[in-house]
Amino acid sequence: KPFDVHVQAEPLTRFEPELDAAGWSTLQAQATRARALLAGRTFWNVSSTARGGGVAELIPRLVAYARGVGVDARWLVLTGTPEFFHITKRLHHALHGSRGDGSPLGAGEHDRYDEVLRDNVEELLVLVKPGDVVLLHDPQTVGLAPALATAGARVVWRCHVGCDTPNAEVARAWEFLAPGLAAARLTVFTRAAYVPPQCADRAIVIQPSIDIFAVKNQPLAPQVAHAILATTGLLRGTPGAPEPVFTRADGVPARVSRGADIVRLGAEPAPDTPLVVQVSRWDPLKDPAGVLRGFALLLRQSPDLRAQLVLAGPAVTSVADDPEATSTLQDVISLWRQQPHFVRQRVHLACLPMGDLEENAAIVNALQRHAAVVAQKSLQEGFGLTITEAMWKARPVVASAVGGLQDQVVHDVNGLLVRDPGDPAEFAGAVRSLLEDPERAARLGRRAHEHVRAHFTAVRHLTDFVRLIERLDA
Ligand code: UDP
Repeated sequence: KPFDVHVQAEPLTRFEPELDAAGWSTLQAQATRARALLAGRTFWNVSSTARGGGVAELIPRLVAYARGVGVDARWLVLTGTPEFFHITKRLHHALHGSRGDGSPLGAGEHDRYDEVLRDNVEELLVLVKPGDVVLLHDPQTVGLAPALATAGARVVWRCHVGCDTPNAEVARAWEFLAPGLAAARLTVFTRAAYVPPQCADRAIVIQPSIDIFAVKNQPLAPQVAHAILATTGLLRGTPGAPEPVFTRADGVPARVSRGADIVRLGAEPAPDTPLVVQVSRWDPLKDPAGVLRGFALLLRQSPDLRAQLVLAGPAVTSVADDPEATSTLQDVISLWRQQPHFVRQRVHLACLPMGDLEENAAIVNALQRHAAVVAQKSLQEGFGLTITEAMWKARPVVASAVGGLQDQVVHDVNGLLVRDPGDPAEFAGAVRSLLEDPERAARLGRRAHEHVRAHFTAVRHLTDFVRLIERLDA
C-alpha cells in the first residue's frame, strides 16, 4: 500500500524579500493562476522513497509551497518488495545507459513489476478523483499510469534521469516502460536531449530546483558548521566551540547529537584542513570510487598538499528504493584499503545518520558550507541537486561534464567541468587548481550563488509547474 507523507504548507511570502517588485507580482499572479487551474482538484505526487536522493528532496519542498498558495498538493510513496526495487534499480541503471548488475529486464520482471504496482494502485484509486493531476516520478511509478488514466486522472510522468548517448540499455528500458508511458498525457524531462522519440509530442523540459529556505540550505555561521561536523566526528572539535545547533523547519532550534558512521585511519581532520567533499547516495553512477582514485592521484602528485577527502552518503540501509548502497560502499571501502597509508589517512568515508531527516540535512549543510571544494563526479546525472546546493553556498564545484550537470555549471565561470569522467588526472587537476588558487575559487563560488538564484530556486520551478498544468488543460 502506498503511504501519504504529510507536508506542512509553507508561505510563498518567504520569497518576497528575495525578489524585486516585478518578480514578486509575477509570482503572485502565478499562484493565483495555479489555484484557479487546480480548483477542486488534487495535485498528487507519487514516488518510491520518502528519504534519500534528489526526488525525495524535491517533492516535499514543492508540495509545501503549492499547499501554501491553497493548492491541494499531496505526496504518496509507493511500497514494494525487495525484488521490485531490484528490478527498478536495474531500470534506473538502464535509463542511464548502464548495465547495472546485468540482471534481465524481460517479461518475468515485467510481471513482477506490474504485480507490485497493482497492489499500490488499488489504494490510489480510492484517493484519486477524476480530473486530479497525478505526477508520477521516475521509472518505479510509470506502470501506475494506465489504471490512473482509466479512472479519469490526468497523468504526467516526470523522469529525473537520462543518458547522453542512448544505447541498447536505454532502448531496453524504454521498451519495458512503454505500456505505462502510453497512458501519460505529458512527460517531463530534465533536459531536451533526454526526450525519447515516443514522448516527443508530449514532453516538456523542467529542471529541478532547491529550496533556499530548507534546513539543508539555511545560513550557518562557520563556527557552528565546525561544531556540527565535530559532533558527527567529521572534524576535530575545538575548545570553546559554540553549540552544534540548527533551526528546524518549524522554527524551533535543535542540536545535532548523532555521530556518523565513518571509515578512516587516524584522527579527524583539523578544522582548518581544506576538505574536498562529495555527498551522494552510494550508487556506482555517482562514481565515489573515481573520486577516491582522482584524489589519490592528486596526493601522489603532491604529497604535501594540505587537503583531505570526505565521501559522505546516507546510512546504507536507509534508502528504500536503493538496494545497491551496501555493495557500492563495500567496493569503495575495498578500494580505500588498497591505498597507501598516506592516502588512507586523508580519506574519510562517512555514512550520515538518517533517523532524523532535518538533522541529516543540517549535517549535509555544514559539510557543504565547510568544504573547500565540492565535487560531483557522476558518470551520468539527470540533474545534480548536490551541486546546486553547494553552488548556493558559494562553494567552488568540480562536476563531470555529463547530463544535467552541464546545464548547471558553466565551466570556468561558476565552477569547473571535467570533460572525461573516466580520467582521474583531469579530476585531480581541476581540484588542485581550486585548492591552489583560493581567490579564483571564491570568485567562481560567488558567481555560482548568483546563478542558482537566477535559475534554480523554487520560484522558477513553480512557474514551470503552472506552464505544465496549462498545457494539460489545453
Ligand atoms: N543527500 C542527503 N544526505 C546524504 C546524501 C545525499 O541529504 O547522505 C541529499 C543531497 O543533499 C541531495 C540529494 O540527496 O539533496 C541527492 O540529489 P541528487 O540530485 O544530487 O542525486 P540523486 O540521489 O537524486 O541521484
